[in-house]
Amino acid sequence: METVEQPSNERHAIAEGHDFLLIVAATEERGGNIHHVKKLHEFEVSKKVLGQQQYFQRVFTPGFADTGKPSYLVKGDDPTGWKVWLQALHGCTDQNTFRVTIDTVWHVLLIAHKYQFDPLCREIKAWFTKWYKQHGPFDIDQHAMLLYPCYTFHDAQAFKETTKALVYNVPGHITEQKPHCIQETTFRLDQRIIGTLNSARGRLRTILHSGLYDPIHELLNDAICAEKKNVLWAYLTALERTNAWPLEIHGPKKGIMTLLSRIEGLQYIDPHPNKDPCTDKSCGMDFRQVAKNAAARTKRYFDGLCLDCMNHSKSGDDDKDYWHHADRLDNYDEDCRIQHGEPTWYFSFMGRKAKMDLFQRNRRRRA
Ligand SMILES: [Zn+2]
Ligand SMILES: [Zn+2]
Repeated sequence: METVEQPSNERHAIAEGHDFLLIVAATEERGGNIHHVKKLHEFEVSKKVLGQQQYFQRVFTPGFADTGKPSYLVKGDDPTGWKVWLQALHGCTDQNTFRVTIDTVWHVLLIAHKYQFDPLCREIKAWFTKWYKQHGPFDIDQHAMLLYPCYTFHDAQAFKETTKALVYNVPGHITEQKPHCIQETTFRLDQRIIGTLNSARGRLRTILHSGLYDPIHELLNDAICAEKKNVLWAYLTALERTNAWPLEIHGPKKGIMTLLSRIEGLQYIDPHPNKDPCTDKSCGMDFRQVAKNAAARTKRYFDGLCLDCMNHSKSGDDDKDYWHHADRLDNYDEDCRIQHGEPTWYFSFMGRKAKMDLFQRNRRRRA
């Protein structure tokens, strides 16, 4: 005989002296599209607070089907995501909501999307900022899942850290990710942002390459010591043995940080027959230090993307604001919530790159 399960109820106190119940029916999928109600979560809320949201203004409008009822039922949403929102809207966020997973962070955004809640409202932004701080450090898959939330909650520090972590650590092409439980496909960043992250990653390889190639150039062009060919051989051998060189071969499959730690471990054996250091500047170079310096410069180069600079470049008006920002030489993070240098400013430009390159060329000419 078939038995019918009754969904159990769980009460959550949100507003003191509540006058309304927001009921979330947690469902589970059983055979295709049949959603079985597993549990009812009853949130004790203030009708006045809820009514400040556009969606509920409509629900509470006289004539609406639910007008006058002491409760409102929503189906299929994540109850924890609702709890985060309801606590934020009532200004009573508690510690437990900071312990939720990345999945819930996405559910918070889904609920915002579905019920037109503003992800930029002060309380929910503050919730995300604190959640992010309490949950790091993240691995690269988690960072890829945090790109969209950091951007949507407009958290400049978290977006900077997440974009930096991806650029320095992802092996291969950088992409954004979403948790498996999220079916919504419209939650995606502007693809220019992803393209920019991959360009920044390419630029880091170029910076590293030029730092490691400089001694080769000098040995070929400036060295006069009789041992220079052996020194070149010894340096190239040392580079080859790092398992990071040539960067064109190893770079596309390895994260920048992996390449850097391999380069930092460069072992150079000086081929000069006598023990005295060679006095020829190019030939007697400290090649281990050269490798360390190239790695250090690459590590320092990129601070991540800046949401505030990205906004400057989205003002319309022929990018006027951006160039105004740019004319403050050496002060690339003025008016930004985070500190950063020129490369971050450059890569955060979301207009056409050809325009930026022309601007950079003209400025170099003026300098
Ligand atoms: Zn020499
Ligand atoms: Zn900035």
